[in-house]
Amino acid sequence: MAKQKQRFQCHKCQETFDLLIDSEEQPVLMGYCPYCGETWEVDLLPEASTVTIYKSPTQKIAESMQLPAVLITRPRQE
Ligand SMILES: [Zn+2]
Repeated sequence: MAKQKQRFQCHKCQETFDLLIDSEEQPVLMGYCPYCGETWEVDLLPEASTVTIYKSPTQKIAESMQLPAVLITRPRQE
């Protein structure tokens, strides 16, 4: 239900790319940059927890989490 398209920005080459994510099932996403091949991970939960303060009459928080327009990835930790 929480599948949504999310834009990411590579921490290395700064390119942006879209991925379909499921924020409920995958609180931590891992992948690689389609441009430079750098592996990355993104922790969705800390980002999403800031959402509750979001107050805009036009922007209702539905069942999906409100994430930043562009999530910047971080280097993968082994
Ligand atoms: Zn990259």
